[in-house]
Amino acid sequence: MRLYRPRVISTHDRASRADFSRTDPAVVALLDERWARRFGVLPLCLDDGALLVATSNPLDLDAERAVAFATGHRVRWAEAPAAEIAQQIARWYPEVGTRAEPAALPVEVQHLGFDSSSRERTADESASAIQLVDQLLAEGIQAGASDIHIEPEEQGIAVRHRIDGVLRQSRLLARALAPSLVSRVKILSGLDIADRMRPQDGRARIAVRGTVVDLRVSTLPASHGEKIVVRVLDASTGLRTLDAIGFADADVTRIRSLLDQREGLVLVTGPTGSGKTTTLYAALREVQARGVNVVTVEDPIEYRLPGIVQVQVHEKAGLTFGAALRSIMRQDPDVILVGEIRDRETAEIAIQAALTGHLVLSTLHTNDAASAIARLVDIGAASYQIATAVKGVVAQRLVRRLCAACAGTGCRECGDVGYRGRRAIAEILVASPEFERRVAAGAPPESVAEAARANGCIPLWESGLALVRRGETSIDELRRVAAEPARQVMEPPAAARPVEGPTRIGWTSARSGAVSGALRAQLLAAASTLSGQVEIVQLGAATPGGAPESTTPAEGTAPRPLDAVVTLAALGNPGHASLELPEWCVSPTRPPLVVALAPEGATGEHLRLLGHDANVVLPATTHGRVVLATVLALLRWRGG
Ligand SMILES: [Zn+2]
Repeated sequence: MRLYRPRVISTHDRASRADFSRTDPAVVALLDERWARRFGVLPLCLDDGALLVATSNPLDLDAERAVAFATGHRVRWAEAPAAEIAQQIARWYPEVGTRAEPAALPVEVQHLGFDSSSRERTADESASAIQLVDQLLAEGIQAGASDIHIEPEEQGIAVRHRIDGVLRQSRLLARALAPSLVSRVKILSGLDIADRMRPQDGRARIAVRGTVVDLRVSTLPASHGEKIVVRVLDASTGLRTLDAIGFADADVTRIRSLLDQREGLVLVTGPTGSGKTTTLYAALREVQARGVNVVTVEDPIEYRLPGIVQVQVHEKAGLTFGAALRSIMRQDPDVILVGEIRDRETAEIAIQAALTGHLVLSTLHTNDAASAIARLVDIGAASYQIATAVKGVVAQRLVRRLCAACAGTGCRECGDVGYRGRRAIAEILVASPEFERRVAAGAPPESVAEAARANGCIPLWESGLALVRRGETSIDELRRVAAEPARQVMEPPAAARPVEGPTRIGWTSARSGAVSGALRAQLLAAASTLSGQVEIVQLGAATPGGAPESTTPAEGTAPRPLDAVVTLAALGNPGHASLELPEWCVSPTRPPLVVALAPEGATGEHLRLLGHDANVVLPATTHGRVVLATVLALLRWRGG
């Protein structure tokens, strides 16, 4: 026989009146919007271990059970009219579409945690300063800034946002506001408002329209007063997958192949702000799914990774990277993340771990993949050990994407900048026997890079150029983040002087129509006046972004390389300008001189890309006779 016990609902008897001013965004976040809307309830705060939830019906047992199950907390009801709850739900779970709407300012900013202000809020901290700081923070966060700079200058207080890696001014405020503004930010982040002479670091947690945001605040005494930088910690950084970072598919495949290794050292390199940490965290999450023991040593730990042991380095307390690593090695890890290899001790332990059955991930501050090897040698690691330990190096950058709405000309969507969002480009070195041999022999970076290229590593600049050609970013943006390789000067060796016979000039056009036809006719006419000294070879049409349809040489004649190629580029996607010639056209010792004809209306972007691919760029309106004369003069000058 079973005893039936009636449910005790005495706690509901005294269901208090809901106080929405106590609503804690972190607590709201505990309950999925679906449930809140379905049952017409809103979690307010945690009270003595129980979840205080607003409801219009305290006797709704289904709701109580569902909310308790969904949040993992005991539920205590607080009563409020259904209409009022609906209003609050709409406020705390805003529609996705309206969430990012900047027009909805002024925004409510809630100050959570790290905020000692409640007791310190003094009379001199005027309500307007509070409001102003709230607004500045909300504006920056909603604009997608990673950092908000507040800097007193001669003319006023400049407020700047770093968006997609680039700093730009958002506002200029009156200088008189500086003292109260600085004080308010300091109070918010738990700093000493009386100390204006020393740099300080603090943290704050706020909620902007229901989204909790952690801030790291630093102050620095400068000539016109204290400068403040607020770093907005993006909680999604630690949660992004490799696929979501914006690497090319082939790059993701190469990175995964490196992570598939059970032992060895995999390095991610690039300057500050190139997304190294995001990549490493994404890598860790993939590796973690294998059910291995993952441990990290970091300085600082910015994002908590669920299920992973993260150790914070404390140099002052003697817990250096090296010391932390040595302790970790006794904890039976499978995968170790070393935030950064800065010194010989760390390098040696990391390499030792990589050589003894551990997958070790780390970062280095080098510009390209091959230089990472040289850096390890500089730090003091042994070449033969580096050669065996290093399985791969990912050199990466983040490039801004051209705004999809305006294609880079500037519009409301992108705040007149022309760019919106970023994606990653990478140069991925994968170890090969030849790579190992060269590294062990202490070969210079150029030689290591050559071995890497032979094993499929595409240089960073080339990866970026592919995006420029597809119109995803601009060449200026690529230049901002990656160094353009010096161009090889074509210097034909004396032994490879041209063979006898007419000068052979290839003609190809990416366009059909009058301009192309006229130019071709002019070229042929001009060539015919030179009584057999010049031969014009018709190549197939230059297809967008690819090779001209391969044309075989005239019947019966042996293929003879071309001395020059004249190409009429198409307008539109700058990638159309690229030119790949059939193999038979190109002498290995004496590449043809390439003359590109830029169509009328070509932009600076077109011209720069054409200039990258060609030796000479001329306007398409140039008469064929002049084009031919130019080609012949240049060939003579080159030693033809
Ligand atoms: Zn735009």
